[in-house]
Amino acid sequence: MKNDNFGLHTICTHTGEVEDQQFNGAVSPIYVSSSYAFEGVETLRYPRYFNTPNQEALGKKIAALEKTEAGLLFGSGMAAVSTCLFAFLRKGDHVVVQNAIYGGTFHLIKEQFDHFGIEYDFTEDLEIPSFQSKIKDNTKVIYIETPSNPLLRITDIEAIADLARKSNIISMIDNTFASPINQNPRALGIDIIIHSATKYLGGHSDILAGAVAASKVHIDSIFEMGIKLGGNLSDYTVWLLERSMKTLGLRVEAQNKNALSMANWLMDLEEIDRVYYPGLPSHPQYDLAKKQMRAFGGMLSFELNQELDAHAFMQALQLIKPSMSLAGVESTVLSPALTSHKLMGEEERAKQGIKDGLIRFSVGIENTEDLQADIKQALNAIK
Ligand SMILES: *Cc1c(COP(=O)(O)O)cnc(C)c1O
Repeated sequence: MKNDNFGLHTICTHTGEVEDQQFNGAVSPIYVSSSYAFEGVETLRYPRYFNTPNQEALGKKIAALEKTEAGLLFGSGMAAVSTCLFAFLRKGDHVVVQNAIYGGTFHLIKEQFDHFGIEYDFTEDLEIPSFQSKIKDNTKVIYIETPSNPLLRITDIEAIADLARKSNIISMIDNTFASPINQNPRALGIDIIIHSATKYLGGHSDILAGAVAASKVHIDSIFEMGIKLGGNLSDYTVWLLERSMKTLGLRVEAQNKNALSMANWLMDLEEIDRVYYPGLPSHPQYDLAKKQMRAFGGMLSFELNQELDAHAFMQALQLIKPSMSLAGVESTVLSPALTSHKLMGEEERAKQGIKDGLIRFSVGIENTEDLQADIKQALNAIK
């Protein structure tokens, strides 16, 4: 049967399975060998070459979900990010990077690229003119991330892809927050799609993994760099990730629905000043979000009234866990000012609009009445 026309949930469940030809079991067998025969074989298999049976199979599922020709798995989101950047950037090259990006990616570029002789510029904002003004003769890559963390701002994916193509520049997106369920950047012209599979693809807060989807030609370049950098995913985790991804569509749809419902509910609370969610008509880029996303994801942020303490609020929650990571089936919260954006300093945070009372909320699959009751009791407890 051809896979190309399967719906999202069928792809999640079936595409790229390893067939159990020996016992006809229902799920992919796991092949853990790190040593395979070299004589009389078509493929020389080795885990670092991304070509164990389980890695190859799951790569196909990622590619099918992102509607690209090929996909690769990595040991972490950052292994995927770094391998992609180093695959296309050499000494003397230049990269234009969106200003609000994942901290790990920011630090990789800011602290390491100088040592490799790779030039970079961060944009001032997420608007196209800011990207355009940074492009130079030696620009090889434009790198974006949308929706952004933690304010859920939106970058115009199609406009970025057009801008890059016009100047013969490779476009890359970190598609972690949206997940392939809500956003397929390849269809909008982006060359390379990166995921921290630790987040929605894994979805149960128990896997560290990364994934990349792109054309065969681009994947070949990423493969060439990848086998040298060696950031591969263990086949045990590949197997666990395949299992997790069977429910990716179901989980993310539940999270989309819960997040929209929670965003609307939070807007009406007097203790909350502001809610940031691309699915709210009050979001300044609601129309753009609607244009490029099928649904708006499970991530939102909200600002507590100035007199309420973010730390005390998070401590008072009983069901929703204060937690660094995101995208699990369980709801979690985090204060960017106290954690992910602490090192940035107060001045830069103020410039980026990240207030002390801002809470990032990764909405899970629980019943929203229970999430609402927890937030209500925590707000009452700290007043
Ligand atoms: C977590 C995350 C990463 C890094 O992924 P790891 O799996 O932690 O290496 C990259 N981008 C985004 C948007 C993330 O949330």
